[in-house]
Amino acid sequence: MTDWMLTPELSALRARIRAVIDERVIPAEQTILAEDRAGSRETLKAIQADVRARGLWTPHLPKDFGGLGLGVMGMAALFREMGRSPVGAKAFNCDAPDQGNMDLLLKAGSAAIKARYLRPLCAAEITSAFCMTEPAPGAGSDPSNLRTTARRDGDGWVIDGHKWYSTGGENAAFLVVMARTSDDPRSGATMFVVDRHAEGVEYVRRIPVFAPDVLDHFEGEFKFHGVRVGDDALLGAEGQGFLLAQRRLVPARLTHCMRWLGLAARTLEMCRDYVGARESFGKRLVEHQMIQVMIADAARDIHSGNLMTLHCAQMLEQGLEREARPYSSMAKTHVARTLCRVLDDAIQMHGGLGYSEDLPFTHWYRSARAARIADGPDEVHQMVVARDFVRGRLDLLV
Ligand SMILES: Cc1cc2nc3c(=O)[nH]c(=O)nc-3n(C[C@H](O)[C@H](O)[C@H](O)COP(=O)(O)OP(=O)(O)OC[C@H]3O[C@@H](n4cnc5c(N)ncnc54)[C@H](O)[C@@H]3O)c2cc1C
Repeated sequence: MTDWMLTPELSALRARIRAVIDERVIPAEQTILAEDRAGSRETLKAIQADVRARGLWTPHLPKDFGGLGLGVMGMAALFREMGRSPVGAKAFNCDAPDQGNMDLLLKAGSAAIKARYLRPLCAAEITSAFCMTEPAPGAGSDPSNLRTTARRDGDGWVIDGHKWYSTGGENAAFLVVMARTSDDPRSGATMFVVDRHAEGVEYVRRIPVFAPDVLDHFEGEFKFHGVRVGDDALLGAEGQGFLLAQRRLVPARLTHCMRWLGLAARTLEMCRDYVGARESFGKRLVEHQMIQVMIADAARDIHSGNLMTLHCAQMLEQGLEREARPYSSMAKTHVARTLCRVLDDAIQMHGGLGYSEDLPFTHWYRSARAARIADGPDEVHQMVVARDFVRGRLDLLV
């Protein structure tokens, strides 16, 4: 394993995460998923206990919240390893949306919110959801369409609105809800922490989607009918919703890239095994040039996605949040498309076996397809990149 850009300490940590993924998580993957479908978390919990015992639990968090106080580069090094299994991030309590919500509460939560929700979230005693997207004509690709409102009432706020695609909302203990608090285009939105079971919170349904429902990743739809929250439910200050959304989404999108790169790399390794052994027309598949093209394209795209992600991680670590934005958009579009194509080609290279559920590619592909839509569809990220380039704000030869 060559560790370009990583310190020796991070390299060593990366190897320890890889050992847990290879030795504990991947062999138990199918059991964890089968147990989850049957309503049990026995194997996952045993692995989580092992992760804690090894001192690798929630490594992205500051030390006083039980983590290792890593920066974004550290997350890049470790999350790629966790991402090699779709259940890997959960084993370390680093899964979306909880990991992004931990960051958000840490940066912007009141003392009351931190005590009530952040501590148990960091300990994996509870889970959370992020409620920004609304059914049309509300907020989607364009957050300025936000329709959910929060109005001042006495010493608190009253929230009304309709959200969907709140991943994990069904089992969450709390929801981070983005609501309109004025008509100002820049400072018109505010984020609130809402108890999932507060009076007036209606869980409409679990949205049936393309991907299998696993490990709390159900897509939830909510209605908010006059939900009352206090001032201490605010994240940041009134009017900081759009700003905080950017602060949450840029690093969160990068952590997605890290996990997706891990899964893409593992997929390609699985292809290497099959095409190296299977024969057709008198030679091994790997000796056919059309197979080599698929392997080489995938290797190139994973590698370039890795470089884009590391570059952007380094910018975030240096506090260059605004400057990092178009680079994170490029990384997100590129890595999401790479993961989808690598999985599609993996199915192709494995033939009927690839299309069967004897191998995990079809499951992984169905989940991966969301990557091109969630956290902003490809086209919106392309728009950001083109806009910044045209304005002369995007240095390409960094
Ligand atoms: C699996 C999954 C999980 C999700 N989890 C969450 C979550 O936890 N919390 C949350 O708040 N949201 C979540 N989302 C919602 C996601 O962020 C939105 O779906 C996304 O931002 C797009 O919004 P929309 O669905 O309303 O699409 P629309 O805004 O209706 O856009 C539809 C399509 O129009 C095109 N389009 C849009 N704008 C442009 C443009 N400027 N130029 C060209 N074409 C454009 C794109 O192709 C886009 O896909 C999730 C979505 C998925 C699929």
